[in-house]
Amino acid sequence: MTRKKRVVFIAAAALLLAAVALFLLLAAKKPVFTYGGHTGTSASETVSWQQRGSFAPKKITAKDGLGRDLTGAITGDESAAPSAPGDHKIVYRVKNLLGISGRFTLTVHYVDDLAPQFSGPDTIAYTGPEMDLSAAAIGLTASDDVDGDLSAGITYSGQVDAATPGDYPVVYTATDSAGNRATHTVTFTVAAAPAVPTGGSDAGSGGGTGGPITYENGIVEPTSITPTVISDPDSVTAVVNKYRALPDGWEPDDLVSITTNGAGAGYLRAPAAAAWEQMQQAAKEQGLTLIGFSAYRSQATQNRLYFNYRASDVQNAAMYSAYPRRSEHELGLAIDIGYNMTCADDFAESAQGRWLAQNAHRYGFVLRYLPDKVLVTQYAYEPWHYRYVGPDLAAALWQSGQTLEEYFGLQ
Ligand SMILES: [Zn+2]
Repeated sequence: MTRKKRVVFIAAAALLLAAVALFLLLAAKKPVFTYGGHTGTSASETVSWQQRGSFAPKKITAKDGLGRDLTGAITGDESAAPSAPGDHKIVYRVKNLLGISGRFTLTVHYVDDLAPQFSGPDTIAYTGPEMDLSAAAIGLTASDDVDGDLSAGITYSGQVDAATPGDYPVVYTATDSAGNRATHTVTFTVAAAPAVPTGGSDAGSGGGTGGPITYENGIVEPTSITPTVISDPDSVTAVVNKYRALPDGWEPDDLVSITTNGAGAGYLRAPAAAAWEQMQQAAKEQGLTLIGFSAYRSQATQNRLYFNYRASDVQNAAMYSAYPRRSEHELGLAIDIGYNMTCADDFAESAQGRWLAQNAHRYGFVLRYLPDKVLVTQYAYEPWHYRYVGPDLAAALWQSGQTLEEYFGLQ
């Protein structure tokens, strides 16, 4: 070989080696993915949990370092399909000519963005202040696509003025675990009441139809008897019950407005009002908030309440609601107390109820309708209904477990 030929050969060999080296370098490069037009190694998508059935990844392609299309060789590998909202990963892989693999991770964020759904009434006839407005009591339920039944967590806000006929919206709220919130409004209707019926020898106090005395579940039907009109309505130890009524037109002359947890809460007679405020304060010092949600009621209000209750539940009206002129709320000495604005059947088991059971008598209040004295008081057990009788009598009743009827020997 001439010197010139040798130079050309060496140059050609060097070029060839360089070309082979470049080829190997490019062929060895990891495959590159392109997802939805963007090149990289990962991407994420956010998908409504509701739309999970129709979600499809965008177009994915892959090339090797030589620019050859590897799309047909891509394999996908998914984590188990999620049973609840959360992240779901899909890993795509493909190999190049030299068996070097590349991977691309697609993370799908499934989000719960659907609020719970309510099922239940839109309108309800209001039966009185002792009506339980809770969702459970009115048959309102809430369910969620992710969390299932959320009924137990339904809260509500709104108040009903039992004394004024009209429509009162109460708003119920349910929230799912993702924070999606739904509301449902129930309209409580307070109907206008009929006039106090008159009849018998005691017109205006109700009762005394002249027929036989009748009972429902051992509780006397108040309209079947003529009550005794009490002569001492101004006494703080006055007893009104199914058989004993206030004089028609009598009303307390020392009503004082009271508060509950800082807000106005109606009226009680002065001694009961002062005792209530002290008792409430003492409870507060123990970290307990007493909510007094029904205190004094006028004759007209009690009339409306009773007949509204009776209109919706004639079987149980006598058991739960007092006939006009025979309610302790008309005395201005009774207050219904709860841990919220409702008559809670489990109030006695609450911290507030337990505290009252041990302390109310010190302030002159007694639990009036006891669970073991239903046939004596002729009222169902009412863990929320407290009656002011003054500290001396309250202590005596608390110690003996007697009712006012038993203590005074009255029917
Ligand atoms: Zn009451």
